[in-house]
Amino acid sequence: MPERGTRAAMHFDDVPIGDAYLTHEAVRAILERQDNRCAGCSAPLDAGSTYFDLRRPAICGGSHTLGNLAALCPSCHLSHMRRIREGFADHRNK
Ligand SMILES: [Zn+2]
Repeated sequence: MPERGTRAAMHFDDVPIGDAYLTHEAVRAILERQDNRCAGCSAPLDAGSTYFDLRRPAICGGSHTLGNLAALCPSCHLSHMRRIREGFADHRNK
């Protein structure tokens, strides 16, 4: 059983996150780290249209940790997704 209440002692970047959603705390930590700007183009992010992506996708061995997450604006999110898909397709064609 993982122990609760030891969170403060952990390095935040190593905190595992769930597949589907981020805690409010995690979101805040990522946005703070990025100064509320997109990791791709440095555009200011607004709360309603911020995407959280794994920098190194899980299908490529990326881990679900805060350190592997980046906050992106909608257009960077789209190109990030496209790049992953292309990379993945490339991989399979070899
Ligand atoms: Zn962007």
